[in-house]
Amino acid sequence: MTATAAESFAPEDLADQAAPLDALLVDAARTPPAFDILFWNSDTTRMSARLHADFVGLAMDDPVITPGEITLLGVPIDLSQVEVDSYVVAGIADHLTPWQNCYASTQLLAAGPGFVLSAVGRRTRHLRLRQLRGTDMHEGIGRARGTDYFRIGDQLTDEERDYLRRARDFVDDEVLPVINGFWERAEFPWPLIEKLAKVGIVGDGIEGYGCPPMSPIASGLVHMELNRGDGSLGTFLGVQAGLAMQSIAMLGSEEQKQRWLPAMARLDKLGAFTLTEPTHGSDSVALETSARRDGDDWVINGAKKWIGNGTLADVVVVWARDQADRQVKGFLVEKGAAGYDARRIDGKGSLRAVWQAEIELADVRVPEENRLPGATSFKDAGRVLAGTRNAVAWGALGHATAAYDVAATYCAQRQQFGRPLVSFQIVQDRLVKMLAEVCSMQLYCLRLGRLIEEGTLTDTIAALAKMNNTRKARQVIFEARDLLGGNGILLDFHVMRHMADIEAIHTYEGTETIQTLIVSREITGVGAFT
Ligand SMILES: Cc1cc2nc3c(=O)[nH]c(=O)nc-3n(C[C@H](O)[C@H](O)[C@H](O)COP(=O)(O)OP(=O)(O)OC[C@H]3O[C@@H](n4cnc5c(N)ncnc54)[C@H](O)[C@@H]3O)c2cc1C
Repeated sequence: MTATAAESFAPEDLADQAAPLDALLVDAARTPPAFDILFWNSDTTRMSARLHADFVGLAMDDPVITPGEITLLGVPIDLSQVEVDSYVVAGIADHLTPWQNCYASTQLLAAGPGFVLSAVGRRTRHLRLRQLRGTDMHEGIGRARGTDYFRIGDQLTDEERDYLRRARDFVDDEVLPVINGFWERAEFPWPLIEKLAKVGIVGDGIEGYGCPPMSPIASGLVHMELNRGDGSLGTFLGVQAGLAMQSIAMLGSEEQKQRWLPAMARLDKLGAFTLTEPTHGSDSVALETSARRDGDDWVINGAKKWIGNGTLADVVVVWARDQADRQVKGFLVEKGAAGYDARRIDGKGSLRAVWQAEIELADVRVPEENRLPGATSFKDAGRVLAGTRNAVAWGALGHATAAYDVAATYCAQRQQFGRPLVSFQIVQDRLVKMLAEVCSMQLYCLRLGRLIEEGTLTDTIAALAKMNNTRKARQVIFEARDLLGGNGILLDFHVMRHMADIEAIHTYEGTETIQTLIVSREITGVGAFT
């Protein structure tokens, strides 16, 4: 039962205990939106067989004790979202228990509206509805529907499910309620970063050095979920873990790894990655920032643009061309280095809650021990980027999922012409096409994870996945925005933020066109851009 729906039925209205559930759930035209509570202690003998079967499964599997996703009348329900207050040993036969008794018992246990979850001969659980305010449609919208039509979840290990669950809970409980304000004010969400640090999901699958042990798929799921919540947070993670930490993990010395990675995984230290320059974006291979060896130091001069965390970072990976051999090398510039000047880029209409910087490097001195020993040419920067393009593909999936979930929830609630939007065939057609795109993106991502596990992910596969998923995400979000009508442009409904954010994601780490040129060079054997 939806929380909104539950509140619209006062207990005294429930003359017939079975009727409200059936009216809410069994009418095919009324797909129930996101659930906060799922089992009314109703007379199960009067439920439809389908609903009864779902309830029996629910009771037998005991998913409240073992959290997991189940489906009720085809609608995924995230049981971890149900707040369990206390247990009551009742041992009642539910079809013999009048609903009034159940309701009364919940009132003894908590002040808020509550219901009893019970089954024949089993302990009864008292559940409290998440507090939702009135009839505001946007309350609770955006929470995960667990969209997984192709049962990707079956492919996950318990550990991967655990990462997914933690990232999802963080997004639903901590991010969604507050993120729109940060986005609107273009404010960096420090309180969320502090909370994110405690969730233990920053590390991008780097082995050891205090990073949480994550498989490539677990790492992808974390990118997906953070972006499902918000592109700024997803981008923050991409810069911190995908670009900065991975540069150090892949190319750094043992001392550099020991010094930076554990603190970065805890978010005690922030990182940045500077490749793009004001005059070199897509052709960053032609970067002009220079590095000159001077005794035990290097002297770096140049300019960078669009650098995530550039004004905040404790350690900045700077890519510069060695004047001696003309090769691109990587250097770790530490906070406070003389000659490092970063200015925040203001006036963005996308990813407003994460900051990028324009940076000037004027005779910045870096000791030789801060050079990344594994970075000896531009190809090494490219190796880091191949990994982050994989992460962007997962992130784009998160954006598309968010848009689809909101649209599906909204269309089930919003009534026009006396019926919910989901009862119109054109709306159904659009939702199914959106779902099809989301599913195809999920399958891409699952395969990306497997290829990384096997060690066979190539730059071009990552490029194709990034291109496909950001392009599809744009389309799905575009559809969702329209399906929400006027509400679609309100931040409260989240989709507009995703629509704005996906534009930056579509561009960074190489535009759609550049990814296309990379893939086409391989399939045709003809380079059209270099
Ligand atoms: C929000 C945000 C965050 C970012 N974060 C970082 C970061 O942390 N670190 C970092 O180093 N960089 C970062 N970037 C930079 C990003 O990677 C570049 O913006 C991107 O690579 C595109 O470069 P550009 O903006 O200079 O566009 P340009 O290269 O000028 O491209 C403009 C247009 O021309 C097209 N184009 C270019 N070349 C060709 C061609 N040969 N054929 C056909 N079309 C072409 C492009 O596809 C695009 O449509 C970030 C960018 C943004 C917007």
